[in-house]
Amino acid sequence: MTTDPVTDVLVIGGGPAGSATALRLARLGHAVTLIDRAIFPREKPCSEYMSPETVRHLHGLGVLGTLDAAGGAALEGTQVFGPLGSRLVGRFAAAGGTPFRGTGLGLPRRVMDAVLLAAARAAGTMVLEGIVAHQLVRDADGAVAGVHARDADGAPRTLRARVVVGADGLGSIVARRAGLHAQGRVRRTAFVAHVAGVDGLSMTTELHVTRDGYVGINALGGGIANVALVVPAAATTAARGDPRRFFLERIAAVPGMRNRVSADRIVRDVLVTGPFDAMCRRSTTDGALLVGDAADFFDPFTGEGICTALRGAELAAAALDLALGRGGPVTDRQLRAYRVARRRAFLGKWLVERLIGYGMLAPALFDRAIARLERRGMADTLIGVTGNFVSPWKMLNPGFLLRMVM
Ligand SMILES: Cc1cc2nc3c(=O)[nH]c(=O)nc-3n(C[C@H](O)[C@H](O)[C@H](O)COP(=O)(O)OP(=O)(O)OC[C@H]3O[C@@H](n4cnc5c(N)ncnc54)[C@H](O)[C@@H]3O)c2cc1C
Repeated sequence: MTTDPVTDVLVIGGGPAGSATALRLARLGHAVTLIDRAIFPREKPCSEYMSPETVRHLHGLGVLGTLDAAGGAALEGTQVFGPLGSRLVGRFAAAGGTPFRGTGLGLPRRVMDAVLLAAARAAGTMVLEGIVAHQLVRDADGAVAGVHARDADGAPRTLRARVVVGADGLGSIVARRAGLHAQGRVRRTAFVAHVAGVDGLSMTTELHVTRDGYVGINALGGGIANVALVVPAAATTAARGDPRRFFLERIAAVPGMRNRVSADRIVRDVLVTGPFDAMCRRSTTDGALLVGDAADFFDPFTGEGICTALRGAELAAAALDLALGRGGPVTDRQLRAYRVARRRAFLGKWLVERLIGYGMLAPALFDRAIARLERRGMADTLIGVTGNFVSPWKMLNPGFLLRMVM
């Protein structure tokens, strides 16, 4: 067994949350090690849409120039098709607020995550790929003090740190082993592919809501679209053994999708992820902190996960910088500032996500809300809120909510 030297910060996971946290802390002069079970570049099942606010965070991390040059799609807004035929179109440039720019970005995660991880490494993070964390190391007082892991050859390895950052995504092992994980009620599973030559593909993301889920289409540049099917987790037993067939059959049954996706146009095969709707009971404990999907994951419908991961990383790095600067062990109490900051930053967004997620469980009501939003000129506001550059409280008030359904 290899026991590595004790570092300041050990980040588990090199997705946007982990890379951004590592990058920020390394730039502040802390000794940071990041491990990921994958070897990058790696695929990640995701709709690969980034809102203008996500783009602002990427700019702040210094990677936007590289990502813009990678040939993605400049996305202008979102169209939502209701389960009973209603439709709304919202455009970022018309949403008000202060967008970083009038377009979002569609770009494969294979590219984006590798660029972010490379930036973390360039900032001084020691990046170890192909290493799976499976258990926490605890000190004599029970505080988290590192992880037990296995390297690519299956050899055991122990990594110790003053603080462990759980950025290991949906199903986080850090959240589970630390007793912080909680399961939500709306359990869905996603099937995601890259498809060439989708008829009618535009620079506006499409969301086709069905009675029990939805399909999202998102341009990625180069004539390729990301197509994601989201269905109740219980429905996926029919997909066992052949997710591609299941994906094609379910997509073909959605009114706005007929004849737009066929097997011969799939250029990156169907990836399956879920069931999701996970959150944490608490985002910190003695010696550890959760960020990104490890801390909370609701439904990808609003496409806010990457933005939340990057904003969460900003909050985590600020709190950890202070706690590490005090010397000694990093305690739950010292990390209170992070819990408070997360609540302040995300409460409105959490409420909007849940409003939309639970609203989708009532198709007639959801359809009516879409029709009202479009007819009453409120669609752009909705897109600005879900794009994270218009305050969620613009939606979360009785006036807006009543006009949406009455
Ligand atoms: C179907 C779908 C569509 C989505 N579409 C969008 C979208 O369009 N826009 C958007 O903003 N968000 C979207 N999201 C959400 C977005 O994908 C996530 O919120 C985002 O990836 C969170 O980043 P993260 O760094 O927290 O986790 P991840 O990106 O999942 O990264 C976690 C990393 O941890 C590593 N890891 C996991 N376990 C271990 C372990 N035990 N040991 C070592 N390493 C480990 C993994 O290999 C991975 O690299 C979507 C999600 C889904 C499921």
